[in-house]
Amino acid sequence: MRLALSFLWCLTYAFVFGQQYPYKQTIAQLCAPEYAGRGYVDSGCIRAADLIAAEFKKIGLQPLQRNYQQAFSFPVQTFPGTCLFVAGNDTLMPGIDYLVDPASAGVRSEMYKVVYCNAATLYRSVNAFKPCPKDRILVVNTTGFGADTNKVLQTRLRELQTFAATIELTSNKLTWSVSQQAKPYPSFQVLSNAFEAKPKYVFIDLESKFIPDFTSSNIIGYLPAAKKAKKKPYLVVTAHYDHLGKMGNDTYFPGANDNASGVGMLLYLAQQLSQQHDPNYNYVFIAFGAEEAGLVGSRYFVEHPLFALKKIKFLLNTDIMGSGEEGITAVNATLFKTEFARLTQINQEGSYITQVKSRGPAANSDHYFFTEKGVPAFFIYTMGPNKHYHDIEDKAAALSYAAFEPLAQLLLEFMRSF
Ligand SMILES: [Zn+2]
Repeated sequence: MRLALSFLWCLTYAFVFGQQYPYKQTIAQLCAPEYAGRGYVDSGCIRAADLIAAEFKKIGLQPLQRNYQQAFSFPVQTFPGTCLFVAGNDTLMPGIDYLVDPASAGVRSEMYKVVYCNAATLYRSVNAFKPCPKDRILVVNTTGFGADTNKVLQTRLRELQTFAATIELTSNKLTWSVSQQAKPYPSFQVLSNAFEAKPKYVFIDLESKFIPDFTSSNIIGYLPAAKKAKKKPYLVVTAHYDHLGKMGNDTYFPGANDNASGVGMLLYLAQQLSQQHDPNYNYVFIAFGAEEAGLVGSRYFVEHPLFALKKIKFLLNTDIMGSGEEGITAVNATLFKTEFARLTQINQEGSYITQVKSRGPAANSDHYFFTEKGVPAFFIYTMGPNKHYHDIEDKAAALSYAAFEPLAQLLLEFMRSF
């Protein structure tokens, strides 16, 4: 008991006075089943938002308004229940053998007769497959075609999906996403090796629920400058906390690297900066919601900022922080050359990261709408052998954290260089 108490004291001490935020613990928690992949089923993203707000409070961040939450709404398609796909005699494994199209319609216990579409016929037009009886499902095999042909076939697939249930057979890695729309018919992506037996029938039972106005929120914490805070410049750190959520009852996407790891980094930096606060700066930490649904949270913030965006001296967006064996990339490096030169110089002097790679602007994370408004920003991501991305294996246990702490030091020094 005494041992347990002193252990507890050590933990408390480390948290209150120590140097390090327990980032691995928080990342693992955000990836746990009760957070449901931080999506739109089982309140996953809402639970994650509450956890982050509680961490902000522990660290000592202040809210910028009455509380940390900035709420916004948007439409989203969800799959909250049964998700059963039987091809011939085989029950396929969701997330392993197949993905439900993020915009797929649901279907209750339907037996479909399989129609294998000839790729050459489909390449020319979808007319040969029109109209499609309700009890048929069209299968398009896109494996083995060149990029140009594949592009045309993808367009045809989208055309088929306006009047028929479809299956795309592919040998590509299965990579899921989120949709703000719902298509009129069910559609799936299936690995071609799961369809080798060329089944004549498939049985599908898929529950879907379209939510026209799901309410999510950005979580915003603040460390004010010492005097006349509002007049001092702002340094901003951002990371999205949402992920893809659930695809049926039993399958969720943990989103460890993308982007529980970035939230871990944001909290780690927030704690460090709160302990050694430069009083000349306002620091703002924003955990964005609904990034995976199309940068929804960050767009909302840029359109409804809680302080003048022109006061932002620099913004660092962290997304995919869990590896780093092959260094990091800075998106927008070519736009902000002086800052990038300073980042690489600090890295050389401190020998923090093996490589700091330059990349041009890209609309691939939450920095994007800030960049569009003229806010100087980098989007930093780590690179390494962990290739799990938008799949069910992006788990906390798969993160190496190869660059996490030295990267945090690099980013802290970079922020102190303004
Ligand atoms: Zn991400």
